[in-house]
Amino acid sequence: MKVHDKLFIDGRWVRPSTSDMIDVESASTEAVIGRIPAGSAQDVEQAVQAASRAFDGWAAAGPARRAACLDAIQAQLKARSAEIGEVIAHEVGMPLEQAVKIQAGSPRYTFASYAKMLPDFEWREQVGNSVVLREPVGVAACITPWNYPLHQIAAKVAPALAAGCTVILKPSEVAPLNAFILAEIIESVGLPPGVFNLVTGDGPVVGEALARSPDVDMVSFTGSTRAGKRVAELAAATVKRVSLELGGKSAAILLKDADLAAAVKGTVASCFMNAGQTCSAHTRLLVHESQYDEVARMAAEEAAKYVLGDPFDKATTMGPLISATQRERVQAYIRKGLEEGAQLLLGGPDAPKGLKQGYYVQPTVFGRVAASSTIAQEEIFGPVLAILTYRSEDEAVDIANGTPFGLAGAVWSADQDAALRVAARLRTGQIDINGGEFNMLAPFGGYKQSGYGRELGRYGLEEFLEYKSVQLKR
Ligand code: NAD
Repeated sequence: MKVHDKLFIDGRWVRPSTSDMIDVESASTEAVIGRIPAGSAQDVEQAVQAASRAFDGWAAAGPARRAACLDAIQAQLKARSAEIGEVIAHEVGMPLEQAVKIQAGSPRYTFASYAKMLPDFEWREQVGNSVVLREPVGVAACITPWNYPLHQIAAKVAPALAAGCTVILKPSEVAPLNAFILAEIIESVGLPPGVFNLVTGDGPVVGEALARSPDVDMVSFTGSTRAGKRVAELAAATVKRVSLELGGKSAAILLKDADLAAAVKGTVASCFMNAGQTCSAHTRLLVHESQYDEVARMAAEEAAKYVLGDPFDKATTMGPLISATQRERVQAYIRKGLEEGAQLLLGGPDAPKGLKQGYYVQPTVFGRVAASSTIAQEEIFGPVLAILTYRSEDEAVDIANGTPFGLAGAVWSADQDAALRVAARLRTGQIDINGGEFNMLAPFGGYKQSGYGRELGRYGLEEFLEYKSVQLKR
């Protein structure tokens, strides 16, 4: 049991203003594995003032110094990656091996990538008689979710620090223990006091205080569309910059000439990764009507291969969902799918047999899903694949674009040019062609209600920068 009773503010571990604590549960055993402070608006204020005081110095520190700090952080993340993977396997429930590779590996990569990028970044350019400067936005609040907790933290904190911003991090209260490891690392590498601050607590208290604060210049938010709208609404009062990475309902379109076996395998893997708790998961599989029977059979067979169980058992390929709330939400969606007349090809709403503890949901595949039905429209955030049919390419594109979201998607085809033509018609921020791998340097973010702003790579750094034009007398 890991008890953290202090917040990291102004370079020190400080007692919060109240003694309220939040329990952190293991997704697989349901046991309380940690406790963290439920921070207050007063704690937020203290952190914001520390970040404001630290800003000028950090902004002036220069890219070389900032790059050295980021590099030192990535080295410590590497040294503690086994521990980070283990903590997140407990908190989130992802199988350990994957958690070490993805949940611990990707934050390290992100910090390393910004350390590498800084020296070559163009901080000024000449445009006619103007010098155009790139400058940090200011004090940045980073509010993050629980599904890839440290990845989402790194995708904000690393570029913010790289840009010269000072940071207040509010991690998800559901999977916060990993954020304390990052704070310990940051303390150990000796960033100036106030450059990085950690305030834990719940969204309506700590998150909203950050969004409201007149001394916060930017809020970078990842989470649900509901909470993202609230953050944008509050931030509007002080016209602060907001970037939002929200939910998704991404479609994989299997064109008629696709390698169906590869496409089904790739789509099921995307949909079921992290037990379906991935914002960019390909949760709708769109197949031509004439190929439905074959693809439906293949998808059910592929999904049936998943081995549900303890994230710490090597044989496990799918762990539990993160919480009782999330399990109930997903089971309710599965029941809704049945009520609305979709065909259940695998799984269902009942708890999987033989797993007495942990928030497990059966890998579930629905066929003949109507494009307008709830399970084809709303983000489920669990291991539930919906198979839909189309009769023409135009119809496939309409169905793919026919939700409020626009985060990701896929096109599968033997003809890459044809796939690219379809990709160009999809209103989403990311498209994978024939299983193209995730690229940590390419921009990540959404169209429509999946949000605005981009993370990762150069694009993620630019989110935290202002332009300043300085006109010189010719
Ligand atoms: P959530 O919106 O409940 O919480 C996200 C964060 O926002 C948490 O830190 C939470 O405490 C905080 N929060 C909640 N209410 C708030 C409020 N009123 N004001 C300010 N902050 C508030 O989301 P979650 O359940 O943690 O994460 C799952 C959601 O995140 C899914 O919808 C998923 O699609 C989305 N997500 C999106 C991306 C992306 O990059 N687009 C990545 C991962 C997850």
